[in-house]
Amino acid sequence: MAALLAASALLCAACASDAALSPACPPGVGRGLWDFPWEAPAADAASRLLENPDFGATPQAARDLESGVVDGRLVAVLQEITEEHRICVEAFKEGHSFLPGVPDGPRIPEGYGEAGGLPNTHYFGRAADVYWVDGKPVAGNATDPDVLAVGRALAEIPARRRPDQIIGPPPWTGSLGYGRQRGWILARDQLELHEDHLHLGYMDERGTRNAR
Ligand SMILES: [Zn+2]
Repeated sequence: MAALLAASALLCAACASDAALSPACPPGVGRGLWDFPWEAPAADAASRLLENPDFGATPQAARDLESGVVDGRLVAVLQEITEEHRICVEAFKEGHSFLPGVPDGPRIPEGYGEAGGLPNTHYFGRAADVYWVDGKPVAGNATDPDVLAVGRALAEIPARRRPDQIIGPPPWTGSLGYGRQRGWILARDQLELHEDHLHLGYMDERGTRNAR
């Protein structure tokens, strides 16, 4: 926030010229003077989520939210889910690892099923692992009505904002019946690696691969 204010002050120093007051791009296009304030709501959104009593985070997950490493789309979706449910995130980036003793990097390590070698969305702050829903562990409760309801709530989020890397336990995925077009990963080996949590991720830095 301090950095943002300092940068704003710098921009205002440049405000003297007419050119700075009439950016070449309209608001929302990017790199325009008036796009600057949009960075503030992203930081606010993360702190609002942390203050939300229906959202829980482990200390490592809370630190990621505080540091701003978590993707704004993910922050917004988690906030949306808490309108109907209590959820607890175990990890975004810090402390996440695919294989015990193997530190996370930009790519999923070989040996983690067929996903080995693919980009690691956790590493880029674009994924969350939810281990508890409405006070219940996802493990052993894959077809619990509340855990299933979180899946349906996700499916209702518009395609352009919804995570496109949704992975959960096999019975959860099977009961919901959503497919790849909606963002669900159906690869059997991946489902078996997610018996105890819901993984919500965005494959790309911008946009989603959801078709509907
Ligand atoms: Zn995950």
